[in-house]
Amino acid sequence: MIGVIYDNAYLEHRPPRNHVENPGRVTSIIKAISDIAIIERPVNYVDEWILKVHDPDYVRQIDKACGMGYVFIDADTYVSPGTCKAARLAVGAVLRGIDKVLGGEWNAAYAVVRPPGHHVGRGGRALMAPTQGFCVFNNVAIGAVYALKHGISKVAILDVDAHHGNGTQEIFYEDPRVLYVSLHQDPLTIYPGTGFIDDVGEGEGEGFNVNVPLPPFTADDAYMKALDKVVWPIIEEFRPQLILVSLGFDAHMLDNIANLRLSLNAYAYVFRRLRDMIGRVKGVVFVLEGGYNGDVLSKGSRLLIEIMSNRDVKIDEGVTQTDPRVMARVDSVIRDVINVQRNYWHLA
Ligand SMILES: [Zn+2]
Repeated sequence: MIGVIYDNAYLEHRPPRNHVENPGRVTSIIKAISDIAIIERPVNYVDEWILKVHDPDYVRQIDKACGMGYVFIDADTYVSPGTCKAARLAVGAVLRGIDKVLGGEWNAAYAVVRPPGHHVGRGGRALMAPTQGFCVFNNVAIGAVYALKHGISKVAILDVDAHHGNGTQEIFYEDPRVLYVSLHQDPLTIYPGTGFIDDVGEGEGEGFNVNVPLPPFTADDAYMKALDKVVWPIIEEFRPQLILVSLGFDAHMLDNIANLRLSLNAYAYVFRRLRDMIGRVKGVVFVLEGGYNGDVLSKGSRLLIEIMSNRDVKIDEGVTQTDPRVMARVDSVIRDVINVQRNYWHLA
């Protein structure tokens, strides 16, 4: 069974002016799932864990910004008086989800949180990205570190947001205990400009970082092919005890912030495959990252709850087909990823 973690404090992270990353994102999700989901509150013992990932100077800087009213800390990312509480409880939701899953109470959890996290590294901007991309604390990364200190020895992070999780990659680049796998739009065409095939990790972490950069207009059929040929085989071979998912709904065709062409069918495929891994993993914790179309956020989140609860689902969108010229590029990306990752994994 899947449980949801949410707190109204997330609404108090408020933009100074119109902004795509706004409180309406999570209110539409909660409204769409409240009749079928068990909703719990986050934990509040988070500071100790935030400091295991982020530099103390960075955390001080954020706390200081929260005291300054409504401010932009870079061209994309804002902080408001309620941000520090919201960002801490966003971390707290992931920790609560992990507690529930490791305690055996739930086998999946969905942290409906904001601000998002995967673009932020140890000290803020990651891998020379121009901004923090709306992120304050790296919720998923802190969750992974928390799990590693609670009896888990291997964590896989699957990032299906349309953007590369440069912060998460940076944090675990030399860590073999955390496998980071990201499917994202080609970094040459979108923020944050990172996430290339050759980034495989370094030192002991070499082989535990997998990037699948997809050309603009990649649709369901090509996305599922990349999952089948690269992503599932690597995750299965890694044999994680816990899977964390950086769940961004911005790869959907109706989301204007990116240029991928997924329908909810691709998301449903991801959810079903992860559901089928439960038993071999202690659980799957989904953490909201991006996704800026209210309708997609609502329907996608409801679909997640339904699939993880083994309910029947109806998807009122057809499977999207990739244009042949784009498909040829996807095929060549998949070949390149396999050629690089074959050094570390058994790939056909
Ligand atoms: Zn995104």
